[in-house]
Amino acid sequence: MKRLAVCVAVTVSAIALAAGPAATAEPSPGKHGEAARRHTPAKPASESARLARSILNTKSITYAKAHVGGTDKASLPQQNLADVSNGRLAKTSPWGHKKGARVALDTRMLNGVLKLNTQHHYKFEISELVGGEHSRTSKHYAGRAVDVTWINGRHVGKKADHRGLMNACRKLGATLVLGPGDKGHSTHVHCQW
Ligand SMILES: [Zn+2]
Repeated sequence: MKRLAVCVAVTVSAIALAAGPAATAEPSPGKHGEAARRHTPAKPASESARLARSILNTKSITYAKAHVGGTDKASLPQQNLADVSNGRLAKTSPWGHKKGARVALDTRMLNGVLKLNTQHHYKFEISELVGGEHSRTSKHYAGRAVDVTWINGRHVGKKADHRGLMNACRKLGATLVLGPGDKGHSTHVHCQW
């Protein structure tokens, strides 16, 4: 779980990656109706897609723009959420223990991440979801863990309120919460569901 501070304070526009045509259940009438029906998913968005979209639309949740251990945009946390919000699976990084795999994001984790903001009012930055390198059996690779590096404008390990956010994760049902004081977590918080 080695992780160095990735000091990316840039506020990113979550909407850009999340953008995609909203699915409509009503095919347009007329001669284009058949084409519209073929290209319009009839089933409603899954719970994980809905939660991922809600997270991306939350402006006070931001994302690291780079991994600690390598370069791979397809497995950055914002892209993980964009993929899931569009009905795809999230991609792991090409290094680490689960190279370039596609995995689902667990709804318990997504719900917890969203409510850290909507219920507990934390402004925070996610450094990894399924991307990056973690321990061999890490729940990151199962879409059940999030790493947070910035909380309310302060970096974890540098006077950020990591205890408050860690407690919020527990209240939101996280089953494993690690942070400063735990081995390998001096500069980030790990919440796992
Ligand atoms: Zn972690």
